[in-house]
Amino acid sequence: MAIQTFELLILGSSAATPTSNRNPTAQLLNIAERFFLIDCGEGTQMQLRKYKARFQSVNHIFISHLHGDHFLGLPGLIASMHLLGRKNELTVYGPAELEDIIGLIHKHSETQLGYPLKFVQTQHSTKQLIWQDEKVEVYSIPLKHRIKTTGFLFREKPFPRNIDKYKLEKYDVSFAEIHKLKQGFDAVDNSGNIIKNEMLTLDPVKGRSYAFCSDTRYFEELSSDIEDVDLLYHESTFLENKKDRAKQTFHSTAKQAAEIAAKANVKQLLLGHFSARYGNLDEFLDEARPVFPNTELAIEGKMISL
Ligand SMILES: [Zn+2]
Ligand SMILES: [Zn+2]
Repeated sequence: MAIQTFELLILGSSAATPTSNRNPTAQLLNIAERFFLIDCGEGTQMQLRKYKARFQSVNHIFISHLHGDHFLGLPGLIASMHLLGRKNELTVYGPAELEDIIGLIHKHSETQLGYPLKFVQTQHSTKQLIWQDEKVEVYSIPLKHRIKTTGFLFREKPFPRNIDKYKLEKYDVSFAEIHKLKQGFDAVDNSGNIIKNEMLTLDPVKGRSYAFCSDTRYFEELSSDIEDVDLLYHESTFLENKKDRAKQTFHSTAKQAAEIAAKANVKQLLLGHFSARYGNLDEFLDEARPVFPNTELAIEGKMISL
């Protein structure tokens, strides 16, 4: 079986104020041709165009919180999708008030969308399954920021077990029993003998996972919700020289993000949401890598495939 796509495109890396070369937060995740837009700061639709992303293929948009740098691009994107003739349903996941905000814009601009727009309210006190289909599941994860904020966790569902075809040839097993083997159960051959699952199957490839941790102060308990993920994005608005400022504003430093990555035993860390005060982003890597070596910057245009 060919491995399905699992690809993340970074559209924005900046904190509250954009700079001439850094946009506010937005990312596009493609898992098995399901396109998830994660946060939608100002200018996200231009970024989608710039990187030639298929933005009408986005059916799910996840908004972490209602600070402008994470959602002000949403009204414009919703409008462009309409103007370009969209018919497919679009679902937006985020805080309850987001529906009111978008509703008010549509009311006063007398906008009638040509496609169904649905809202699903997230809650920020516990981890929650918010969407799934047969291949992928998405959770919201509580974060600790100045206003209610969630992160999001995307996981491939477990793959069926692989049948060892060479061994199978020696057994007389029906198609229905092979299906049971793939699901991890023992089978019965056509003479009534029980065949242990491990005799005929091999472990499947492990499902991949991505955790997006938007604006948050450092808190150790976060690591339990994102344990063992393949890729973690964690904000790092500041360097250690502004650790106090990070605490006051409910943000994190690069070193703190690395500490969470190490505690959660993730495979790779991406840093983003850099304060406009910093020009040289290599300093973020210099502070994070001694704590968690496999760290990269989530800068515009970067594509990560798992
Ligand atoms: Zn922010
Ligand atoms: Zn914020």
